[in-house]
Amino acid sequence: MTNVSTLVELLRDRANHEPDKLAYTFLVDGKTEGHQLTYQELDRLARAIGALLQKHHAQGERALLLYPQGLDVMAAFLGSLYGGVIAIPAPPPDAGRLKRALPRLRAIVKDANAKFVFTTQHLLTVLQAAKLDFPEFEEMTWFASEDIDLELADQWQDPQITPETLAYLQYTSGSTSTPKGVMISHHNIMHHCAYLQQACGYDADSVSITWMPYFHDYGLVEGLTVPIYNGHPCYVMSPMSFVKQPVRWLQAISRYRGTHSQAPNFAYEQCIRRVSDAQLATLDLSSWVAAGNAAEPINPRVLEEFFEKFAPCGFKWETFAPAYGLAENTLLVSTSPRNTAPVLCLVEKSQIEQNKIVEATHWHDGVRAIPGCGRLVCQTQVAIVNPDTLKRCAPDEVGEVWVADPSVAGGYWQRPQESESTFRARIADTNEGPFLRTGDLGFMRNGELFITGRIKDLIIIRGTNHYPQDLEWTVQQIHPALRPDYGAAFSIDVDGVEQLVVVQEVKRNPEEFDPDEVLCNIKQAIAEIHELQAYAVVLVKPGNVLKTSSGKIQRRACKASFLAGELEVLADWSENPKYTA
Ligand code: ATP
Ligand code: MG
Repeated sequence: MTNVSTLVELLRDRANHEPDKLAYTFLVDGKTEGHQLTYQELDRLARAIGALLQKHHAQGERALLLYPQGLDVMAAFLGSLYGGVIAIPAPPPDAGRLKRALPRLRAIVKDANAKFVFTTQHLLTVLQAAKLDFPEFEEMTWFASEDIDLELADQWQDPQITPETLAYLQYTSGSTSTPKGVMISHHNIMHHCAYLQQACGYDADSVSITWMPYFHDYGLVEGLTVPIYNGHPCYVMSPMSFVKQPVRWLQAISRYRGTHSQAPNFAYEQCIRRVSDAQLATLDLSSWVAAGNAAEPINPRVLEEFFEKFAPCGFKWETFAPAYGLAENTLLVSTSPRNTAPVLCLVEKSQIEQNKIVEATHWHDGVRAIPGCGRLVCQTQVAIVNPDTLKRCAPDEVGEVWVADPSVAGGYWQRPQESESTFRARIADTNEGPFLRTGDLGFMRNGELFITGRIKDLIIIRGTNHYPQDLEWTVQQIHPALRPDYGAAFSIDVDGVEQLVVVQEVKRNPEEFDPDEVLCNIKQAIAEIHELQAYAVVLVKPGNVLKTSSGKIQRRACKASFLAGELEVLADWSENPKYTA
């Protein structure tokens, strides 16, 4: 797509040239074909929504999108852009968890000063009640998709936007701080689609399968927008369908001969644990050429076990496409090109704890395997920078990942200071820049980018660096009663000394579970594998290790609950009685 420069031009072009081609098919419960939209239908809906916004003189305003996963949200997203309005894809509050979801939503509405909301009749009813408590909601204009008059489409006028016009605000997940609205322009998203098309090897025969939520950049950009950009079919299922039965994801890939489908590490882990042998026998994954894996740390064990389990279904090792990205760069920074095998770097643990990369010559207990997150493709440039001195690191040092790329967003919505320091950093001694500071640590080796963890989550004890995910993974291997992916490791300050705390959820009715023995084994494993003395180990009920709407662990929130004594403790141990329930 070289002759179009905005998402509006892109869909208009598709609708003109291939009106009857299917853009999307929604899979009800992840199985049955439901709502479908051709390019022409999608364009007509978008024009109707755009014209509705134009009637409200909304150009340049913000519109919040609150939907169950489906095709209506894509119509509202594109319709907002057709109206020259900045879309805000946000997580829909579900009726059961309204209390928990509303504060975040309210914060977004206030931060973005959003005047319009697109939603469904059902959610509108649910939110009517909540409106009373939130004056901001009362002042907004609400539209339900079911009420949109398609006849309006003919009144739509080209909004005369440019590539620099903002398309949407991507709120960050809020893993480490309050969500910030990343300003994505049409230029950013169009460039990024071209990048993904080339980097991930999309072609005329591609078929996308996605259940990643529309309000997360992975879902919105690669899951839902790239298929329109590349002009290939896209099958959409809800995240809930996946969570209920992970096999449905793989069944959809099997049935529709999916070539591209992506998800974070936890999803691959779920498939390892929850797909039965009988289900396995019905799967054919040989069509899958790029299994994107990003958004959270990649566990090499999960790659290996997933491959072992699904190779008999035709899954190939080189199908794994580890990648790394963040909302501030539209989506990805690096990715493994099609048909390349994932790379593991074996490093000496004692050295990486001091920020040094020393490759291990052979496998032993003191080796850490770090999965590569792919290569830099197209124009992406990365500098590895010491976050304190702001000078480039030596090639064998771990440092902060800084990025220069046309996909780097303009900044955070209405946060000029944070935008300046995050998006326009310069290397101290050479003044090279501007760069995006990612807040992530990593290193480059043979053209591959390796991510070791987040600066903010790093646990530094007696001058040694420990990455929380490594400790959490160790803990979760101790006993099957411990929920994989539901643990948080962090440090607390005890009389001026940083001390390690591990909080881990236990499954709902654990069988043969002796809490004291498990606590003891956790302490021992942390001591043996990480050479660390845990200060407190806490086993908690499900629901105590908080995650973001995109499923990432909120370690800081967990630490705050721990310090406030608010965790629902099943069993715990600490050197200090002050920290036990
Ligand atoms: P917030 O910025 O609000 O704390 P967030 O950083 O989780 O939230 P996103 O932009 O959705 O919001 O996520 C990007 C982050 O996810 C990256 O900065 C990085 O820490 C992590 N991440 C993404 N891919 C990988 C990967 N392959 N390995 C390790 N971490 C990854
Ligand atoms: Mg972030």
